[in-house]
Amino acid sequence: MKIVVIGAGYVGSVTGACLASMGHKVVVLDKDIDKVSKLKSGKSPISEPGLNELLKEVSISGRFSASSDLAETALDADLVLVSVGTPTNKVDGSADLQAITRVFTELRDLLIRRESSLAIGITSTVPPGTTNQVARKILCNEPQTSGKFTLSFIPEFLREGTAISDFKNPSRFIVGVDEKQDADPFLLLRPDLSDRTHIVGISEAEMLKSVENAWHATKVVFANEIGRISEALDVDAGNVMDLLVLDTRQNISKTYLRPGFSFGGSCLPKDVRSLVRLSELKAVPSPLLKSLIPSNHQHIDSAFTKILQTGKSKIGILGLAFKADTDDIRESPALELIQKLLGYGFELRIHDFEALRHDLYGANLATLQNHAHIRRLMHESVDQVISDSEVIVITQHNKKYLSYVRGELGERTLIDLTGLTRKNV
Ligand code: NAD
Repeated sequence: MKIVVIGAGYVGSVTGACLASMGHKVVVLDKDIDKVSKLKSGKSPISEPGLNELLKEVSISGRFSASSDLAETALDADLVLVSVGTPTNKVDGSADLQAITRVFTELRDLLIRRESSLAIGITSTVPPGTTNQVARKILCNEPQTSGKFTLSFIPEFLREGTAISDFKNPSRFIVGVDEKQDADPFLLLRPDLSDRTHIVGISEAEMLKSVENAWHATKVVFANEIGRISEALDVDAGNVMDLLVLDTRQNISKTYLRPGFSFGGSCLPKDVRSLVRLSELKAVPSPLLKSLIPSNHQHIDSAFTKILQTGKSKIGILGLAFKADTDDIRESPALELIQKLLGYGFELRIHDFEALRHDLYGANLATLQNHAHIRRLMHESVDQVISDSEVIVITQHNKKYLSYVRGELGERTLIDLTGLTRKNV
């Protein structure tokens, strides 16, 4: 394929050199003529291990060149990858899309002059929505471009310092498209990755890239807060975290990484609070840990708002205990949601498979005694709760509820706070 990579930065230079080394004919394009002249002489404009050697090799092969003229280089290209920068807009923290806007305006003018259709992929990191609401809009605002392009979002996950091996051997190849056939040119681009290619929607692919970086940042900040607190307690945080990552069942795993309802129960809330208090006593700032309980309550408030927005008043709650297969109702988020709904005058019917079944003892009994009004709203039959309610709210990720809510619900609204009814569960 003849490929044009726009942007000769950390992503574009590596992408261009690697694709040329895989046998494609590549032109890397930049508005910065110093970068272009460096690339033309087979040298890297950035510092990246192995890149100078790779550029020298692909330049000699005749498959790699550089330019600053889009109109000339891309007129007969099969595929364009847009890898320009999307830095922080200093005014409000949003992504500055000026370079994207400029490139797509140039691409629109190019498409008017082209005879054949061009596959365009954005590999820059952009906020979800940008590919269609900014890039596609620009391309479409000239009627002569109609039918002459496909537009995709191809998130790039390489890391500086190991960029070449990351590019050549990524853990996944994500192709974000609106129409499945738009992915075809990218499947031809990377046939070596067919065993790990995922064709997804554009906004999912855009979101994934942003979320991954937020996730990495969260892990770094978490580990550093643990490091600071441990240091203040004279505990070796390195050892603690080495042990933490050994658990691949709960710690380094999919567990707890699906959006659902708030956490609760007898352990997480109290132990987070206690660690936060300890960090306060040691005068160790831990803003991430400190944000967990408020964010968890915020999630309950969001659930409340969803119910409020239905405009209905008869609400059926499926699940009272903080999770399935336990009668433990201590600090259950369902309990907090129920209190709030009652305070606003909603008419509630509540079901739980375990929380009512047995006699309650100890802390659970005390919790429910404090909430005698809630006990009166509990029903033995799921069907009864559903038939007497206008809105069904799943508050517990309990597979036993699936057969009930997948049945005929009539006019009733289903609000699944847990992700139980998502198709891949
Ligand atoms: P960079 O700033 O190093 O390079 C961007 C290049 O685009 C610059 O050389 C600039 O001159 C060029 N450019 C800007 N406007 C142009 C235009 N109108 N025409 C031609 N060239 C133009 O950026 P980068 O680090 O390569 O990152 C590029 C994108 O990829 C960003 O969105 C970034 O978030 C994302 N990304 C970066 C990395 C990374 O490790 N650096 C990894 C994955 C994704």
